Amino acid sequence: MKYRLYAPGPTPVPEEVLVEMAKPILHHRTPAFEKVVAEVREGLKWLFQTSQEVIIFAASGSGAMEASIINTFSKGDQALVVDGGKFGERWWKICKAYGIEYDVIKVEWGHAVNTGEIEKRLKEKTYRAVFVQASETSTGVAHPIKAIADIVKKFDQTLLIVDGITAVGVFPLPMDEWGIDVLVSGSQKALQLPPGLAFAAVSQKAWAFVEKSDLPKFYFSFKTEKKNLEANTTAWTPAVSLIQGLRVVLSNMKKEGLEAIFKRHAKMALAIREAAKSVGLKLFAPESPSDAVTAIYGPEGMDAGKIVKYLRDDLNMTIAGGQDAAKGQIFRIGHLGYYDAMDMITVWSGVEMALAKMGYKFERGKGVAKAMEVLG
Ligand SMILES: *Cc1c(COP(=O)(O)O)cnc(C)c1O
Repeated sequence: MKYRLYAPGPTPVPEEVLVEMAKPILHHRTPAFEKVVAEVREGLKWLFQTSQEVIIFAASGSGAMEASIINTFSKGDQALVVDGGKFGERWWKICKAYGIEYDVIKVEWGHAVNTGEIEKRLKEKTYRAVFVQASETSTGVAHPIKAIADIVKKFDQTLLIVDGITAVGVFPLPMDEWGIDVLVSGSQKALQLPPGLAFAAVSQKAWAFVEKSDLPKFYFSFKTEKKNLEANTTAWTPAVSLIQGLRVVLSNMKKEGLEAIFKRHAKMALAIREAAKSVGLKLFAPESPSDAVTAIYGPEGMDAGKIVKYLRDDLNMTIAGGQDAAKGQIFRIGHLGYYDAMDMITVWSGVEMALAKMGYKFERGKGVAKAMEVLG
């Protein structure tokens, strides 16, 4: 049976990119690979909407999250973490591992952070950085990054460090224009690649703190990578095949255009949200939904995990369930990266088949029709 992947990462990889990555390995200390790095550097700056260097590591996205902390902080610096889900949690867990003192703004799952609370905290204490997710994948929430940036900008000593792992290449996050200081992403989400690359774009304001940073680091050094990237190479052996694939992805994304990419994602997300509502299901994050992933409550009194299981066992499709307290409560559909209108119709029809099988009473095909209306 054909396998279909609709998780909020990893996401499907286009055939053209798979073929590119199957080519013989280039040696990384050659002019041929330097040419690939040069092209990828330009492409990443375009995608992150910045004139600054975008650092590349061979790591999953969390590697870039860790790097963004240990490269900007010095001993004694304090962190302010917005924790509205599993990935918000990860920020303070990394701080904790490095002995960095942190305060947490706990946000109820399914909700966006109150920006007034951030401003209040920044006035009370000097923080080196505010950490937040642009798109909190565990809850399907988009936090208001522009409004947060407008606040953080007013504090000279404070950086805004954004996890854009399910946001870069999904919805607008113009880093330079808004004043984001470190913007992190990974390869296996909107970048249509297998897992294994982590990215961090670093603002001028942030580089000043990177220069002073005295926390221990070796492999994950922004300074070392920047110096090497400027010579179109990497400090260590890079994930050569992934970077070759990335060259093709970025070239295709450029052809599609940023505006068109954002529009495509907005439309797919709207289709899934409207389909869910049309069959009487409730959205987990109705007020500020992310266009990368939609979290939906299962039918009342029923285990939402059964929908995930039916898709997996009977249809060979992957969607995601809920984590922690949301386990059994919600299911999540990823629609970021290499997806189009027909993918949305397909995944939603699978969900309706599962709902029918579970005995949920609704008009069959209603959500599919709604999705067709939005996407058509
Ligand atoms: C996927 C993801 C990450 C990174 O997870 P890895 O498993 O390390 O790639 C971080 N933040 C968000 C919001 C994510 O969706």
